[in-house]
Amino acid sequence: MAVTSQVYEGYSVINGKQHDGEATTIHNPSNTADRVGILHDVSSHVVEEATEVAKRAQQEWASLSGLKKGATLENMAVKLEENKEDIATLASSEMGKPIKEMKGEVARGIQLLRYYAAEGSRSDGDVIPATDPQVHQYSKRVPLGVVGVITPWNFPVAIPIWKMAPALICGNAIVWKPAKQAALTASKLMNVFQEVLPSGLINMLIGSGRQVGNTLLEKANIDALSFTGSTETGMHAAAICASRNIKYQTEMGGKNVAVVLEDADLDKAVSAILSGAFTSAGQKCTASSRIVADKKIMPALKDKLKTAVAGLRVGEALDEQAFLGPVSSKDQYEKINGYVSLAKKEANVVAEAQTIASDYEGYYIHPLIVDGVDANHTLAQEEVFGPFAVLLEAEDFDEAIEIANHTDYGLSASIFTNDLNRSHQFLERSEAGMVRVNLETAGVEFQAPFGGMKMSSSHTREQGQAALEFYSETKTCAIKHG
Ligand code: NAP
Repeated sequence: MAVTSQVYEGYSVINGKQHDGEATTIHNPSNTADRVGILHDVSSHVVEEATEVAKRAQQEWASLSGLKKGATLENMAVKLEENKEDIATLASSEMGKPIKEMKGEVARGIQLLRYYAAEGSRSDGDVIPATDPQVHQYSKRVPLGVVGVITPWNFPVAIPIWKMAPALICGNAIVWKPAKQAALTASKLMNVFQEVLPSGLINMLIGSGRQVGNTLLEKANIDALSFTGSTETGMHAAAICASRNIKYQTEMGGKNVAVVLEDADLDKAVSAILSGAFTSAGQKCTASSRIVADKKIMPALKDKLKTAVAGLRVGEALDEQAFLGPVSSKDQYEKINGYVSLAKKEANVVAEAQTIASDYEGYYIHPLIVDGVDANHTLAQEEVFGPFAVLLEAEDFDEAIEIANHTDYGLSASIFTNDLNRSHQFLERSEAGMVRVNLETAGVEFQAPFGGMKMSSSHTREQGQAALEFYSETKTCAIKHG
């Protein structure tokens, strides 16, 4: 099942033209013997050219009406819809996300394009009364110019689109550096969008973060940067942007918590926790990687987790029945297995899946939940970014909140309870950008603000209306008449 029928060639695109470069073969994480494609890396020398091209394209694009821009985004949505199966299959084969999830992600990309297409026909400012009645005073959003977009591999379609769609509708052009681990998908997306986009409006560069990404940060003539990735890289990007006075947003790592109180419906909680912890093989910034439970229900919860995890299907990414696929790469496999070895040495296994439904050699990791470590332990503090969660016990509700907030990160947090007062208290006291009751930590909708507190974000928000604030700046205008 894991064998990909064709080998896809991935190229950078500048001004609508493909750029050749040093070739690397990309293998399928579901079957490492299978070649998915060949990537052609450009060198950092082309970053300047891409930015200049974008500058020119931006001027023409910004002069179009909002309705015209919106029509282009709608055409992008149509193209994505026409190619949804191919894009989902390529992405699953490239980075291992199960095809069912990948199709859902492409569907989200289409929704995002349509949501921001509609913004082209909405108000982009306010009329503000002036002290002099003969002065007409108003504020309006204006474009930033060229936006640098740096994206991770774990949402290869939705994240680039949730940055690029609002950037475009606000009148900006884009230089996009996707993660190399998802660059075949990026190249396919570019090919699809090129059919309806003006040349040079989105320029996409395939190359390493350290070279091409860093050049974009340090040297390119960009007016803003939107970054999603690890906290380490995000802090580096933020420091450079601050030193150049470039507007930036960074969405970064998480160590998200699912709290289970004694009155929770345990079956529903377990089902949401497993989805939050193990879909995408735990490689979501919003994945549940800590479970905090009231000690009164701990034995019952452990029993249910043990049974449920044992029944999870770990399979090839193109297996429609797979609950989770392999992790995305050799680096990910080695890094996560480092945490698994630490857990097997210093913690107790609560639940572990036993079988892998594939005959191929791939980067498969058995989902694992452990306990027996305290809230300060590395396993309870560091982002594992794999199918792994740690279970922590709380004496009571107050201690559960204390443990939940005991992390440098603050992306998302969930609680499972039927107690309305405690639900409200958790929503108020939780130090996370996205707080949910009786819902998994992942899965925030595209029309709502998305982002984290503490070390998870630059305290900006993406998606929904919040994105429009980032991709524009406000001009206040006044004209005296009469
Ligand atoms: P990463 O290693 O930080 O990489 C993110 C992007 O930055 C990639 O395109 C990477 O390029 C590039 N990059 C690396 N070093 C760079 C540098 N020195 N200068 C400029 N760009 C550089 O993160 P990742 O492994 O791709 O993604 C996983 C992380 O993303 C996790 O921490 C996860 O929590 C976080 N994430 C956060 C959110 C959110 O919304 N908060 C969403 C998804 C993921 P190359 O990889 O090609 O070298």
